[in-house]
Amino acid sequence: MKIKMIGTGAIGAKQNSASTLIDETILVDCGNGTVKAMLKNDIDINKIQAVLITHFHMDHFLDLPIFLLTRTFKYKEGTLTVYGPKGIEANCKELYDKYMNDGDSFETIKKNTGINFIEVENGSLHNLVEYTIKSYEVTHGNISDCYGYTLEKNNCKIGFTGDASLCENVLKIIDESYLTIIDMCYLKGNIYHLGCDNIENICRNNPNKKYIPTHMTTISRNYIMDKKNDNLTILNDYDDYVIGKGSNDIVQEKMSNDFYYNYINQNQMKEKKHMEKRTIFVFKGILFNKENEILIDNRKEEILDDANEKWEVPGGKIEFGETPEDAVKRELFEETGYNVKVNEIIPYSKVSMWQYSDYEQHTVIFFYMCELADEEHINRQDYKINGYKWVKKDELDNYNFLPGNKEAIEIAIKIKESK
Ligand SMILES: [Zn+2]
Ligand SMILES: [Zn+2]
Repeated sequence: MKIKMIGTGAIGAKQNSASTLIDETILVDCGNGTVKAMLKNDIDINKIQAVLITHFHMDHFLDLPIFLLTRTFKYKEGTLTVYGPKGIEANCKELYDKYMNDGDSFETIKKNTGINFIEVENGSLHNLVEYTIKSYEVTHGNISDCYGYTLEKNNCKIGFTGDASLCENVLKIIDESYLTIIDMCYLKGNIYHLGCDNIENICRNNPNKKYIPTHMTTISRNYIMDKKNDNLTILNDYDDYVIGKGSNDIVQEKMSNDFYYNYINQNQMKEKKHMEKRTIFVFKGILFNKENEILIDNRKEEILDDANEKWEVPGGKIEFGETPEDAVKRELFEETGYNVKVNEIIPYSKVSMWQYSDYEQHTVIFFYMCELADEEHINRQDYKINGYKWVKKDELDNYNFLPGNKEAIEIAIKIKESK
């Protein structure tokens, strides 16, 4: 099963309201902002076949009429079943009729889009395509009719506590599930919500289970991030987590019973936080002198060991508004003091990925043929390089080059020799 966290935040957290999408098919909770959050993430809401509502707090229920309305705009085929506490249809209709009463009636929307409502009870079982949905009444402050759920497919079961305090049915959900998406609103649990303290205990008492906390405040999220706990995976909005058969794309972990395994997507925080991603375009000049020597420089990169003291041809990032030729000319002058004429681009580019401490960089490099524009040379050297030198074609193997540089030089030599 593929779990996509649509929202992981409590009211007041900067993350979306707690909501989870399973296999693009079943949405658990549809609170304020959930529909926009899905649309922003290019989730096809017409694929959703069921919505499970845990309770009627606005951060879990408010977007349900919006969801139904949005379905009508793009609706093609299929049905939608909405499961929820007693009054699920009446409450949805009331919201709709009261605040969206100038278009199609609720009944029309219901009829045109094949939506039906099912009220759940403690212990009730429902089948939906290949899933079995079971509901569990949980305690959440003084409001009645709050539910957690389990979803089972192919002997793989995951649980949802919804908003809940530490009650018997929360423990039951955990006990019956392989993985539980669990309320972790506060540092300390109370009659409304589970807390980090409850969850740390739960992990200790049920070490073979997995947990994904949700409905987090900034405080509870930061607290749990600092704890190393193999049972807990802290996800952010839009992260995916896959469990069960067929999820062997990237197998991060294999359980002893050889059936369950899960992975965290590559593009998701292994480091607990999202790394910023940057793409930069670099234009370099392969400069020949009259003796057909090539100018190379030695790179100074104090924060990136993999690049430090490697050899390359000079060049650099394009600046706002520049042409690639301008960039090459400027960079060569800045780095080495040579005034160059920039000729044709060579038919080769190099893409490399660099991992800095706080961001990932995607570097795309293009190379131009260059010749000396004049004999004058100003003696200068950029702070980013340790030095530069002219080398002959048959000396290239003596230098440890950054990715792509030697390949580009070799192509440039061929072009030059073919003239
Ligand atoms: Zn609530
Ligand atoms: Zn809530």
